[in-house]
Amino acid sequence: MAILAVVLAIGYLVLIVLMCKQESQKRKINFFIAIPICLIISTFFGYFVISNFGLRNPKGCKWCNNIYNEAEFCGVCNKNEEGKILEAKYLA
Ligand SMILES: [Zn+2]
Repeated sequence: MAILAVVLAIGYLVLIVLMCKQESQKRKINFFIAIPICLIISTFFGYFVISNFGLRNPKGCKWCNNIYNEAEFCGVCNKNEEGKILEAKYLA
């Protein structure tokens, strides 16, 4: 039983390291900050905390030059890439 627990713990640590490595390359968070976040507040909630850090290369918005836009519809002008405006019923 003890061997199984050790194997599971190592597998869990490997998953955390891989997830933090991948997310720290994509987002503005250091790998050595992401790892303690995952270990202290669990991987599941840690992932949401890490997801809140901005992307290193956000796609931006070509309509209003909002370079930080990450979503399908821009947060500043509410347009998507085709210039279609997000309908008011989906706002607020
Ligand atoms: Zn925009």
